[in-house]
Amino acid sequence: MMLTTTSTEYDETRLGYQRRDPHRPAVIFPVTSATEVEEAVRYAIDHDEKIAVQASGHGLTRGIDGGVLITTLKFNGVTVDPDKKTAWIEAGATWHDVMEATAPYGLAPLSGSFPGVGAVSYTLGGGLGLMARRFGYAADHVRRIELVTMDGVRRDADGDLFWATRGGGGNFGVVTGIEIELFDVPTLYGGSLYFDLAEHPDVLEVWRTWTKTVPDEVTTAMALVPLPDIPPIPPALRGKYIAQVQLAILADNPEALIERLRAIGQPALDTVGTMPYVESGKIFAEPDRPDSFSSRNVLVSDLDPTALATVPKLAGPEASTMCVVGIRHLGGALTQEPAVANAICHRDAAYSITVISPGEDHASELHDAVLEPWRDLTVGRLLNFNGAGLDLRDVYDPETLNRLTELREQYDPDHRLCANHQL
Ligand SMILES: Cc1cc2nc3c(=O)[nH]c(=O)nc-3n(C[C@H](O)[C@H](O)[C@H](O)COP(=O)(O)OP(=O)(O)OC[C@H]3O[C@@H](n4cnc5c(N)ncnc54)[C@H](O)[C@@H]3O)c2cc1C
Repeated sequence: MMLTTTSTEYDETRLGYQRRDPHRPAVIFPVTSATEVEEAVRYAIDHDEKIAVQASGHGLTRGIDGGVLITTLKFNGVTVDPDKKTAWIEAGATWHDVMEATAPYGLAPLSGSFPGVGAVSYTLGGGLGLMARRFGYAADHVRRIELVTMDGVRRDADGDLFWATRGGGGNFGVVTGIEIELFDVPTLYGGSLYFDLAEHPDVLEVWRTWTKTVPDEVTTAMALVPLPDIPPIPPALRGKYIAQVQLAILADNPEALIERLRAIGQPALDTVGTMPYVESGKIFAEPDRPDSFSSRNVLVSDLDPTALATVPKLAGPEASTMCVVGIRHLGGALTQEPAVANAICHRDAAYSITVISPGEDHASELHDAVLEPWRDLTVGRLLNFNGAGLDLRDVYDPETLNRLTELREQYDPDHRLCANHQL
């Protein structure tokens, strides 16, 4: 089935989670199978049209005007092989779909903070998950990728193409499915300690020094969030500038590992405990309402205390636009190259810092100001955490970028495919 601009389902099908600059295609193919993906790509080739792909729409940067939009949300099957501990994930499956399928076997994928994110695009972009320091990037644990390249041919990514698609994003074809490794993680110890920064200004420094001591079984992050005084914000958090310490721990002694954090004092809200992995979206508890937002990310070599102390001043409640700053602790298994090399760069980064602002306006000047104190420590950027305008020279080292660009020319010489972060 093909939708045109006059179809009643046109708007609901083209609009995803990110509402800033949505796609305005001439036609939409809401695909449900790999065969339908092939048909959609061939239609675009025959009519000499551009192609964009959308699953959940969390990673949209710039909508296409005209052309063909392939939407995959209804092509979302997940098949688990409990003996091999792998899952075959169709193009449009979200992490929620994947976790629901793997949970009955006590197995977990390397999913991220928000279960509604599309598993395929997350993984093509690297995939920094809740167990990242223990197991590495999601793209380090991919066994197979099937895609339809811009000559209309469905193929398995092998050789250079397999290298490129694990970390190089959606630049090489329309991926129909991926096979990923699963891990024996039926439950994990995690959640968030929400501290009121006005009461506990030491949280940042305590968390910074604590991260230097933790084993790889601890993956942790911190979000600094100025919360409005309105429902549906939980009453305990309303109107406060919150430091949300996010924890996902696989160790046997998790309580002992977080003693230093508990010693900070009473959090305004505490959601930490043992939970089934399938409920791990509760850890970050990110909003699930479609919205417009802009984001910018840097990878840094260290969390300098002087730079860290500037964050509440530059991005706190006094900032001109609401600004959420998310800092993720890296290292551990993220530093290790996988057995079969992939395109991920900057594995030596120690922390990732992302600034996010809601709304239609470009908050780019504010984001620049918030990230300025980190300039000397910046070693790169993560593909997945950046909005529009990302310079891919910051994501890849020159050799990797050259190789990716050459492969893109080989598989899409007409530049038909419009990826969110275009090579
Ligand atoms: C609330 C939130 C939480 C997040 N948490 C994490 C996290 O913990 N870790 C992390 O690494 N990232 C995270 N991200 C970033 C996320 O992984 C990327 O934005 C990702 O691109 C989203 O994929 P999607 O399918 O949901 O989005 P879409 O907007 O549907 O897809 C993004 C882009 O991927 C490409 N694409 C999608 N499907 C295909 C396909 N089948 N074939 C080829 N190309 C395709 C297209 O270029 C498309 O524009 C988060 C984002 C949000 C908004």
